[in-house]
Amino acid sequence: MGLHSHPVHCLPVRTPTLPPATHTNCYVLGPPEALVVVDPASPWKEEQEALWAQLQGMGRIAAILLTHHHLDHVGGVQDLVARAGAPVLAHPFTAERVDFAVDRLVQEGDTLADWTLLHTPGHATGHLCLWRPVSGELIAGDMVAGQGTIVLEPPEGDLADYLVSLERLAALEPEVVYPAHGPKLHVEVFGRYIAHRHARSAQIHAALSAKSQSALELVAQVYGDTIPKFVYPLAARQVRCHLHWLKERGQAQDTQAGWTA
Ligand SMILES: [Zn+2]
Repeated sequence: MGLHSHPVHCLPVRTPTLPPATHTNCYVLGPPEALVVVDPASPWKEEQEALWAQLQGMGRIAAILLTHHHLDHVGGVQDLVARAGAPVLAHPFTAERVDFAVDRLVQEGDTLADWTLLHTPGHATGHLCLWRPVSGELIAGDMVAGQGTIVLEPPEGDLADYLVSLERLAALEPEVVYPAHGPKLHVEVFGRYIAHRHARSAQIHAALSAKSQSALELVAQVYGDTIPKFVYPLAARQVRCHLHWLKERGQAQDTQAGWTA
């Protein structure tokens, strides 16, 4: 059996993630004698037990790889380490942010079976994707979502980095994109996300004036009634990411009283 014939297994686990998503996809890759488990995500006992029951029938776990440090991706790592005794692999920036041991630091260009790691900062500084050139498959982590949206939280979230990473993933022209939340996606998702972010930046730029406004005031202007009020603080953090991006391009000023054109 050639490497190419090892399918990607998707084992969704329930996690405390951002609604409307309720699950994180744990992916299992590689040959049965050396499986790689990506993001054993659930902090909840019954989900960890269900995941373990499925994994036991699949083969020997050789590595646990983290796409990034967010709790809805790493919640089940310690439980799986205790059960499987496999080493945890993560980017150095991810290793700095988790409260358990990372056994091997990995980065751009490292390989696991026929998968190559890509460092794709933007959503998280240590974010990794997995790319399998032989089949055109991409494990995309939280770069894009099949359900819900991707949040950029400053200062960790960086729109300029995120856009560069999305462009890079689009240029690979993957045959199939496996996100961490929701069903698999097609390559067009990257262009759609890039266009959405540029449209949002343009909207925020247009809402700026000589009068200083807070990010929250800009949310009311830009989003209005399209989102419920309780999401405004989250949206304000997104808006702040766009404002920093605009500022770097000389299209917004950060004054003591707020943001101006
Ligand atoms: Zn995340």
